[in-house]
Amino acid sequence: MTESKLLEGKTALITGASRGIGKAIALALAETGAEIIVNYSQSPDKAESVVESIQANGGNAYSVKANIAEESSVNEMINIVLERSKRIDVLVNNAGITKDGLLMRMKTEDWQAVLNLNLNGAFFCTRGVARQMLKQKQGRIINISSVVGLMGNAGQTNYAASKAGLIGLTKSTAKEFASRGITVNSVTPGFISTDMTKEINNDAIISAIPLGRLGKPEDVAGTVRFLASDPAAAYITGQTFNVDGGMIMN
Ligand code: NAP
Repeated sequence: MTESKLLEGKTALITGASRGIGKAIALALAETGAEIIVNYSQSPDKAESVVESIQANGGNAYSVKANIAEESSVNEMINIVLERSKRIDVLVNNAGITKDGLLMRMKTEDWQAVLNLNLNGAFFCTRGVARQMLKQKQGRIINISSVVGLMGNAGQTNYAASKAGLIGLTKSTAKEFASRGITVNSVTPGFISTDMTKEINNDAIISAIPLGRLGKPEDVAGTVRFLASDPAAAYITGQTFNVDGGMIMN
């Protein structure tokens, strides 16, 4: 097996893979030979074009629509994947949204929408997929958190709470599953150029980034690919990887 086809015969499910960071993760994991499931909720054409790019490069992929914020939709997605692929080796909890506003003006529905997708959705996917990983006695779960979950950010209390929650979810599931061959890690991106960040003022942000630029989705995808790889990342669990151009130095 070549170095680049280390996940041949394995299956990776990436939530929110129609655009942005999720798309880059799907393309990067496809290079390892894994079959890729591209989850999306509202962008079928974009999801299909990710599938087509993977297939054009000789990989295997298909898309599945599911609203990750809804437990029943997540369970349906997992059933579809298990019916078709029979296994899930890698889960990347990537789907996420922002609904920013200062706390005193934040609508309850905006608080709940962000927590429902970013944190509850990761819980629904983790619990559903882990059932299968426990049977397989192996698996990799990678949660896409954010530096905002570590540092806080005025105007993003809902988002920061969801992303900090993901780190707690990561560490606790890592402890529960460590003896069962399943690793769980978080990746905390800084500011990455995607649809999510297109409204922000780049100049102000860039001055706070030691590497002097916004991140690219591929910067995050490279770390996820490493964490999914076996045996390279086999002895790593419960960790948080900042991919932020040096914004946070531990
Ligand atoms: P993005 O460009 O806005 O893409 C969001 C993705 O999530 C899309 O594929 C979208 O699919 C999917 N999605 C949205 N709602 C969904 C739902 N209810 N169910 C399933 N999928 C859903 O965002 P991004 O910047 O790539 O962010 C990806 C992840 O990285 C998020 O968790 C985000 O919090 C995190 N992150 C981003 C940054 C950044 O600077 N960009 C920094 C730190 C962390 P549809 O279009 O099909 O709905």
